[in-house]
Amino acid sequence: MTTDCLFCTLYREGDHVAVTDGFVAIRDINPQAPTHLLVLPERHVDSFREIGEFPPEEAKRMLDFVADVAAREGLTDYRVVVNVGPSAGQTVFHLHWHVIGGWS
Ligand code: AMP
Ligand code: ZN
Repeated sequence: MTTDCLFCTLYREGDHVAVTDGFVAIRDINPQAPTHLLVLPERHVDSFREIGEFPPEEAKRMLDFVADVAAREGLTDYRVVVNVGPSAGQTVFHLHWHVIGGWS
């Protein structure tokens, strides 16, 4: 846990759309589509570059949760996006998975 990290704070205190052990989903404050969720791990790593810090079982559960969250939102077609680094559009330096969809 990192006290000055926005997503560590939202992990603890945010309005969660879905929760499982070690992971939550929140709604993006600035949605880019009718449905735009963010999946956040409790474990703080700055970006996807540090994915190797996740034990394999935890990384698998994180991906399963991303798929679960999309299914629970009724999404069949959707995009899963991870921006890695500022030049790629990363603005919050706590790993998160965008789940974007809901187009008719
Ligand atoms: P990225 O640009 O890939 O780092 O994604 C960060 C995302 O966090 C952006 O889509 C923002 O709209 C979103 N965001 C920033 N602050 C909040 C917040 N307080 N609650 C929910 N989403 C946020
Ligand atoms: Zn954090």
